[in-house]
Amino acid sequence: MSGQVHRVAIGEIAHETNTFCPETTPLSSFRDHAWHTGAQILRSHRGTRSYIGGMIDGADSQGFSLVPTLVTSAVPSGTIQRAAYRTMRDDLVERIAAADGLDGICLSLHGAGTAEGVDDIEADILRAIRARVGRRLPIAVTLDLHGNITAAMAEASDGLFGVNFYPHVDMYERGVEAMGFLQRMFGGAIRPHTWVERLPMMIPTFSTDLEPMGRLNTLCWEMERRPGVLECAIFHGFAYTDVPAVAVSVVAIGDGSVEPAREAAREVAAALWDAREELRPRSLTPAAAIAEAQRHPAGPVVINDTSDNPGGGAPGDSTHLLAAMLAANLRDAAFGVLCDPESADAAHRAGEGAKLALRLGGKSDGGRREPLHGLPLAVTARVARVTNGRFRLTTPMGRGGQVDMGPMACLVVGGLEILVSSRRQQVFDDEVFRLHGIDVRQRQVVAVKSSNHFRAGFAPLATAIVTADAPGATTLRLDGFPYQRIPRPIWPLDETARYV
Ligand SMILES: [Zn+2]
Repeated sequence: MSGQVHRVAIGEIAHETNTFCPETTPLSSFRDHAWHTGAQILRSHRGTRSYIGGMIDGADSQGFSLVPTLVTSAVPSGTIQRAAYRTMRDDLVERIAAADGLDGICLSLHGAGTAEGVDDIEADILRAIRARVGRRLPIAVTLDLHGNITAAMAEASDGLFGVNFYPHVDMYERGVEAMGFLQRMFGGAIRPHTWVERLPMMIPTFSTDLEPMGRLNTLCWEMERRPGVLECAIFHGFAYTDVPAVAVSVVAIGDGSVEPAREAAREVAAALWDAREELRPRSLTPAAAIAEAQRHPAGPVVINDTSDNPGGGAPGDSTHLLAAMLAANLRDAAFGVLCDPESADAAHRAGEGAKLALRLGGKSDGGRREPLHGLPLAVTARVARVTNGRFRLTTPMGRGGQVDMGPMACLVVGGLEILVSSRRQQVFDDEVFRLHGIDVRQRQVVAVKSSNHFRAGFAPLATAIVTADAPGATTLRLDGFPYQRIPRPIWPLDETARYV
């Protein structure tokens, strides 16, 4: 029917699951982090640089009528509890099934979600939706670059759209793109066929700001200019999880036939494989990273602790880098953010200006004799500032997004300002420092717990960036993880791995 207003359902279930985390993830981790339903989704996401923000604007510009369903996510953490997963999936599926006269569905999924008994939650969600709405209703899906993408996800959907950048500054654009894709499907202008090319390869974490990822992205965009190729994107995959889906992959969408997509994906995959030595993880110990930072005459030099990235499921209370910074007796240095609810609470009770003895961090490993994330550090600290830990992101990645790290404090030990929080969250930009009266531009050394996302916010103001690695849940050294279920052989663990 021409002139018809198309009705499109939107929703999100997003989780990056680190199966090596000792604790499983309950429903409360989703409810406390982000749980929006119905019209609330439009109010909370319109105008943000998120996937859903892009879908809303994309739908507006296509003239679609939106059916907002469920949008939920949690900070990366352990395997999702069985009942929690079922509750979320069934809520989403029921809301979609209950919507009258749908023309299409646009979902934001992560791609590396795992629940108890469900290795690949994205494929499971899509199949559950297909079972209710049938095979013909167009479904477009945005995904994180760290998704472990499977053929099962492609089979149960019409188009998979991954962010091209790490930091993920283009989530919004992918949401807009997915809506444009649906519009072309509604008009019969395209007949999409998706191909997923998986490589026997893992990448711990690697920024697209650095080569070879810059030129490999350019190769994907060249593929998209070929006749019959609608889309081509690299997924780095997520290595901090032990499921059969783990892989680096290239996903391409062909128009009318899968052939051009398969050809494009295989060419990019071959180039990626040939570039693998450039992707081999290199890192410095905390002490070496500090020494490297001190060689730069002008600050701020940013040291990122990649081994304890809450954004990859790590606890955020590792003391390896903090201990090295205290031992180095740094001046004009700031550290963010140690997740330590106990110390944050003690600082709030003592009040600003108070001096108190604390055991900082190192608590998540539960007093094990050789805790992976280091021992608590005994310090005497001055409470410089206490806050509620709430602020909005200003980074190009997720600008406008609300962050709530719970009660926080800025503690001063020697020449070091240490931010402690009550909730786990990686550092995306300098807003968390600003909230505590710290202008990072005035500091010589600034340490952040993040693997790469911090680059979007800090690269413009840092004189240099140095990566520190230590034992931890998100270390670049993958050979220490007790993998049992990933496909083998796989690079860089097995030198016998081959991609033909
Ligand atoms: Zn990611």
